This record gives sequence, structure tokens and C-alpha cells, in this order.
Amino acid sequence: MEQSKHRPKPILEGLRPYPIEGRKTLTVKNRQEIYQRLTKPQRELIEKHKKYKMGSFFLEKQYLKAEEWDFHTLNVDENYNQKLKKYHLYCQCGKPVKYQFVLKSKTTNEKIHLGITHFTDHLGVTPAVASEIKKGLNQVDLALDEILWLKDRRYFFPQDLWQKYLIALHKNERLVHPVPVNLVLTQRVWAFFEVDMPIFVADYLAIIQDIRAIDKAFQKGTKKQAIQNFETFKNHFVQQLQPKSVAKKEYLPETKTLFAQFMQLEEEKIAQVWLELQQLMVQNQEKNKGGDSIA
Ligand SMILES: [Zn+2]
Repeated sequence: MEQSKHRPKPILEGLRPYPIEGRKTLTVKNRQEIYQRLTKPQRELIEKHKKYKMGSFFLEKQYLKAEEWDFHTLNVDENYNQKLKKYHLYCQCGKPVKYQFVLKSKTTNEKIHLGITHFTDHLGVTPAVASEIKKGLNQVDLALDEILWLKDRRYFFPQDLWQKYLIALHKNERLVHPVPVNLVLTQRVWAFFEVDMPIFVADYLAIIQDIRAIDKAFQKGTKKQAIQNFETFKNHFVQQLQPKSVAKKEYLPETKTLFAQFMQLEEEKIAQVWLELQQLMVQNQEKNKGGDSIA
């Protein structure tokens, strides 16, 4: 069953092109247009990343250290349009804003909603720091432009790389001394997988790096008895059976091989895994209600 006689193929072989180099920035107008075309879960993903990046920006800079207020969250109105006077978010003073900073009092838990100007006033920061914060916001926009740019150029979630990655993780499970993998990266990419969005180029490269490290270890390392770990199998297939992207699914030869191996297990064990799988799929469908589902 083991295909160890064949020389391992280079990792990138057979992968669809993914633009690794080059600046991927957009104009404000472009950004809004692309954003409009996203599905709701895709927008939520972008917003979540914005908030996350902004949150770490404040944490790192410690603007709010020892102040009465904690940075709570940042709301972004992606449809903010001065020409059309289309506004959704406001500063406490009533002015419509694109970025709404939510601060929470450390003593009373009271929340206040402020635009950038009143936000910096409130903190009593110098104009230099205020402009640094504005630059920070800009940086966050630029970071996320990459995703929108890729989306606009019709790049999707890199299914082929993801499958190679899952196979590598499966191999890693079988090593007596597994390679430590970056679980934060896995979780982040998983979120993009769920809504079928292209991923950050840095993440794409980090995944390739992990695959390479695992492959190298797998060629040299001591392996556990093959096909022992049913949990890994189950997880692998659950990940392949996500409702949202089934229509576009193409399986790699390695995935098919894994499946064939799986089908050679004892009947009882297959039945047990399938049962759990079906339960998970039902849960998934319920979670995704309102969207497309597997027939
Ligand atoms: Zn204001």
C-alpha cells in the first residue's frame, strides 16, 4: 500500500498557479466594489480579520495603557460613501464615520463609540500618535487588500494545496516524533476554507513550508503502524466534505489513495467512522442553514 518505492514528487508539482509575488493593493473604489460582491460569511471573515489586526495593533502600541479606557473593538463601515451620503456608523458626537472605535471603561464597563478624531481626543494623544493610528488603519486595509485583490482576479481557496496539507498532517500523525505544526495557521486557513476565500500569500507559503518539513521528516522518521489512527482519517474526510465548496471539488490522487486504504479497513470500523461522519455532516448542514447544502 505504501508508495515508498516511487520518488517523492516536488511539493508544488500539479498545484494551480497562485500569485506569490507582486503588490496587491486596491483603490478605495475598487475595494468597495469587490467587497459588495462578497457573500455575507466572506464579509464577516474580512471584518473579523480587520478587527483582529486592529486589536493587535493597539495591544502592541499600548496607546491605552494605564488609561481609564480599554480598546474594545473596531467597527468598519465598508460601504461608507461620502458622495452618496450612505452612512451606517456614527461617532458619539453624531458625525458619520467609516471607522468606529469602541472603548470600554475599566471601572464602570460603560462603552463609548467614537470616530478617529474624537477617539484620539479622548485619549489625549499627540497629533503625531493620532496620525500613527490613522496609518495603522491604512495598513490594516492594505493587508486585507491582498485577499480582495485575489478574489477579484478569480482566485479561490487553494483546494489543491489544502489537500496536500491535510495529507501531510495525516502523515505527521503517523510519525513517532511528529513535526510541530503551526495550529494558529491551520485554524486561520480553515476559516478561509469554510467560506471559500483565497488565502494570504504569507499563509500559502507557510503551508508549503510545513508540508516540506513534514515530508522531509516522513522520509527519514520512524513510522507508527500504518492506518491505525481512525480519528485522523475521520477528520480528513470531514474536512473534504464541507458543504460550501463541494461543487468545485476535485480530488488529488493522494486523497483517492487514502480513501482506497480507508475502504480496506474492517467493515465494522468503516461503519463506525461513517456513522460519526454523517452526524458531523448533519451538524454542518444545520450550521450552514440558508446557504447551499449537499443534496
Ligand atoms: Zn465625534
